[in-house]
Amino acid sequence: MSIEVVNITKSYKNFTALENVNLHIPEGELVALLGPSGSGKTTLLRLIAGLEQAQQGSILFNGEDNTNRDVRERKVGFVFQHYALFRHMNIFDNIAFGLTVRSRKTRPSKEEIREKVHSLLRLVQLEGLAHRYPSQLSGGQRQRVALARALAVEPKFLLLDEPFGALDTKVRQELRRWLRHLHGKLGLTILFVTHDQEEAMELADRVVVMNEGRVEQVGSPEEIYLKPANPFVYSFLGRVNLFRGRIQNGRIKLGEAEFTAEQGVSEGPAIGYMRPHDAEVSLHPPQSAAATAVQAHIERITLLGPLVRLELRRLDTKEVFEAEMGRQRFLELLVEEGDVVYVTLNNLSI
Ligand code: ADP
Ligand code: MG
Repeated sequence: MSIEVVNITKSYKNFTALENVNLHIPEGELVALLGPSGSGKTTLLRLIAGLEQAQQGSILFNGEDNTNRDVRERKVGFVFQHYALFRHMNIFDNIAFGLTVRSRKTRPSKEEIREKVHSLLRLVQLEGLAHRYPSQLSGGQRQRVALARALAVEPKFLLLDEPFGALDTKVRQELRRWLRHLHGKLGLTILFVTHDQEEAMELADRVVVMNEGRVEQVGSPEEIYLKPANPFVYSFLGRVNLFRGRIQNGRIKLGEAEFTAEQGVSEGPAIGYMRPHDAEVSLHPPQSAAATAVQAHIERITLLGPLVRLELRRLDTKEVFEAEMGRQRFLELLVEEGDVVYVTLNNLSI
């Protein structure tokens, strides 16, 4: 099922949690809603689910207006970060819950429920644990039970609000891989909330970046990483160097470094930004005639496994920035803290 969010604005008293949000989620996609805490991710999910009402805008499912439709009629499955299982029920009863509470007319028979729960247990790879209680499972297993419970009612799409947020890194990685696999198998439309860039990049077909109640960019993981639409997306998706400067006569001037500006950019103060792995360090002035290199002092060297990070301070503007490189390249450079080097600022954006 496809989901369309049209011009949604949601305020609490005088605070605007979502401002004119537009979003299209095509059928069958796994979409990540990525943004810092407080950016409105949960609010948007609750609106789509029908747990909240917006002041303005509409929500369409398969082109049909659902804005005022009751939660129970939306056929949505949810899993929340702290969506506790029922402690006094075993795993079987937890998964069966959504089916057993249906009205008599739509409730499956006992035998049908048994079959369904067992096939879900197989799907989430927890066969044999039907009679355990939640307290007897690990965190990762409990989240898989929560997912099975959400899937039991055969939702048309699944909303997951930081479902792995409370788990440790290794278990999270496993569950991510498993969710990806499950998505491929079931072909469900999934909207997945996370504040973890890596999780979004690894899992999603499409990433929606949110900030302060607005959608900043929608794109494939590659697109938003390689072509961030603005400085917020740029810095949220990885480490970034920022340089203050100005645009003058069609040139970007950042201290003593100069770059050709794209046509149509307005003159005046500007911020140049670039990724640390695009800062190319050398001991000698680069051969190229363009003045895209600056001199910098190495303040600190950090070894990060296969990567090495240099914290640098420009000699001209005194601005601090970073360069990252492979360990091999670092060893070839033969530099240490306190040295002065030349750094070419590649792939600069403004
Ligand atoms: P996220 O899930 O991205 O962390 P939320 O959607 O939970 O963000 O919240 C977005 C903003 O809306 C936050 O500043 C939060 O404090 C505010 N907010 C959320 N729910 C309510 C509420 N019921 N009443 C008042 N403010 C709220
Ligand atoms: Mg939230």
